[in-house]
Amino acid sequence: MNRLIRRSGLRTALAALVVLVLLALAAWINAPLVARLFDGGADRVAALPASSPFIRGQRVLLLSPHPDDETLCCAGIIQQAQAAGAQVFVAWMTAGDGFEFDAVLTQRVADPSPLDMQALGNARAAEARRAVALLGVPPARTFMLGYPDGGLFQLFTTHYQDPYLAPHTGTAAVYVNGALTPNAPFTGQAWEADLNRVLARVQPHLVLAPAPQDFHSDHRTLSYVALRLMAARQQEDRLRFWVVHGGLEWPLPKGLHPELSLTVPPLASTLPWTRVTLSAAHRQRKLDAVNAYHTQTRVMGRFMRAFVRQNELLSPAPLP
Ligand SMILES: [Zn+2]
Repeated sequence: MNRLIRRSGLRTALAALVVLVLLALAAWINAPLVARLFDGGADRVAALPASSPFIRGQRVLLLSPHPDDETLCCAGIIQQAQAAGAQVFVAWMTAGDGFEFDAVLTQRVADPSPLDMQALGNARAAEARRAVALLGVPPARTFMLGYPDGGLFQLFTTHYQDPYLAPHTGTAAVYVNGALTPNAPFTGQAWEADLNRVLARVQPHLVLAPAPQDFHSDHRTLSYVALRLMAARQQEDRLRFWVVHGGLEWPLPKGLHPELSLTVPPLASTLPWTRVTLSAAHRQRKLDAVNAYHTQTRVMGRFMRAFVRQNELLSPAPLP
């Protein structure tokens, strides 16, 4: 009996191993069959209500924690808004200067110095402007705030008034070229003042911000701050939410699968999602914008291209 159990246990383990190896092999060659396996949530997405259409003259402000988030979440939304005659503005909170492995590859140094990280920040800021220009947003409608990548939670909490020394760039003030407020201290107060300046200048009818369920702490922190500032203006109803870091390796499968739906992110699956359907031309332009991020696609291209799908998702509320 024991031996039987052992033998059947061994068989099950061997069968599981074979299945795993086959799946890994198929995933490696990116077989469409595997892609379809991961498309289990497609029915739910197809049943979601369509997001309200944009209208002529509307001003839409996209708040992006890092260069690339605006493209990953919303490249199709940006294009549709502009096609409808709305004006889209993009504000980046950070220049994405905390990603050391990125600097290792792009600056070709083993142990990047603070100046190497600042060079990366400036390179990423320039890429961001190029990417949104491809989506039809001119530089005059962009704002680079330049606060520290990976440090927004610190600014919001322990460094609201005392400047935060960013460990990667070795600076406690905005240094990035073309920043909205050059040399602004890395404090929550200065960051909020910049955001209020952007809101006052744009007077947005709609603000697209990360959802508070997003896994990345910079994204979550921006979500809280956006909610707070819009509530202070009694305009919370103008907020719409998106997710980029949705948990459980979402979106799967990685790599370019423009024929698949973007399923709802596991960490925010209960939000009242609406669906924005992308045309083939809008998907192609989204891929072009993703590819404009040369520094990023070298490190995480498969993650980024996985956002080029049939649809994007927006929630009118931050909570279920
Ligand atoms: Zn981000």
